[in-house]
Amino acid sequence: MIILKSAQEIKYMREAGRITALALHELGNRIRPGITTGELNRYAEEFLQRAGATPAFLGYHGFPASICASVNNEVVHGIPGLRKLENGDIISIDMGAVYHGYYGDSAATFPVGEISEEASRLLEVTRRALYEGISKAVAGNRIGDISAAVQTFVEANGFHVVRDFVGHGIGRNMHEEPQVPNFGKPGLGPRLQAGMALAIEPMVNVGTHEVVVMPDRWTVITKDGSLSAHFEHTIVVTEGQPEILTLL
Ligand code: MG
Ligand code: MG
Repeated sequence: MIILKSAQEIKYMREAGRITALALHELGNRIRPGITTGELNRYAEEFLQRAGATPAFLGYHGFPASICASVNNEVVHGIPGLRKLENGDIISIDMGAVYHGYYGDSAATFPVGEISEEASRLLEVTRRALYEGISKAVAGNRIGDISAAVQTFVEANGFHVVRDFVGHGIGRNMHEEPQVPNFGKPGLGPRLQAGMALAIEPMVNVGTHEVVVMPDRWTVITKDGSLSAHFEHTIVVTEGQPEILTLL
């Protein structure tokens, strides 16, 4: 069942989204060669606590941290720890905040120091694919319109969308119906209505859409070792343009 949000619920989600966006922005400012992913995780926890929110990911299905930190060929769900970021790395940070019982969820991939031209193109294409998807999140459209917009844009740029993980509805739970795949056909899937809240989140690989889960049972990597990027916003479908809740 797809839960439509009331105006009051959207107010809480706006605040959850704003806190998530601020935290991600501040994390981005701290990314540099030499910092560990564990230090970024600690910063996120302190930030959320100061903001009166709780981390959405900590303990979720047993996830041991408050952010996912996925470096280079890691796609999603990387566990922060002792890994030191190096010049030329890219790091995807995915995080969420819970405020008044409502969730915000956002991700971005950041360059560490100077990155290759390919890496920088991957970041740009993935970020723009997210906005291509968001532009289709309009009442009357269908989920497939979002999916197809993301896939078409990514593939036109020579990259690949991950199939095994998808975006989702969001609200009082981090993951609600409907699923929001990054691949699909226009005109198919559930119809979008004002009050639907969605997390749209293209995961884009350079070499192949195929991914593998590491023995830690969390970290997802590209099957061919190529780079991967991930951008995500939480949005609400309105009668007009979608409202992005995790934008600063
Ligand atoms: Mg996320
Ligand atoms: Mg998500």
